Amino acid sequence: MNASLLCHVCCGECVAAILEPLSRFGRYAVFFYNPNIQPLIEFRRRATSVQVLADHEHLTLLMDGRYDPKDFLRRLASWDRPERCLSCYRLRLAETARVAAEKGYGAITTTLLASVHQDHEAVRRIGQEEAAARGLAFHYEDWRSLAAHGHEEAKRRLLYRQQYCGCLFSEEERFAPTRLHLYKGNDRGNGPG
Ligand code: SF4
Repeated sequence: MNASLLCHVCCGECVAAILEPLSRFGRYAVFFYNPNIQPLIEFRRRATSVQVLADHEHLTLLMDGRYDPKDFLRRLASWDRPERCLSCYRLRLAETARVAAEKGYGAITTTLLASVHQDHEAVRRIGQEEAAARGLAFHYEDWRSLAAHGHEEAKRRLLYRQQYCGCLFSEEERFAPTRLHLYKGNDRGNGPG
């Protein structure tokens, strides 16, 4: 495969999942752009996991370290699923396409295609639309079967592994049904609720 590719990436675990398919491209880079990830410490953890992996694998990394949750929330079509996630995909893939066109890449793709939790067909459709709007191709591959490999690789490499999708809404959806908490004081139970 000889095409050049800019791959939007969301975390180290997902990049670890697709290292082999990425290596088939003649020229490729990974692009961290995820204004959806909140709060700040979580954002830094995921950005750092990508940085660590990129350094180790000698990947070309374009890092957008801007953290601006207000702007992200303003740009969502809705705060509810599924519209929220569709806006979120579009925001990230539109920026990936913009940067790819600016830097001379011929195609874009995303590690969202390696997630079993995302709306795969929506990612594909929006990726194709945003790539086409910039005169680029969207590289589609179903990488979901590599998710378990990414998980194992992240464990092996001691990379940070996230517990929820990214935005504060998804954090609530993940933890509200649980009684998980981090209180380390004089324990009088399992926290509020
Ligand atoms: S749940 Fe995930 S995909 Fe949906 S809006 Fe939140 S961060 Fe984006």
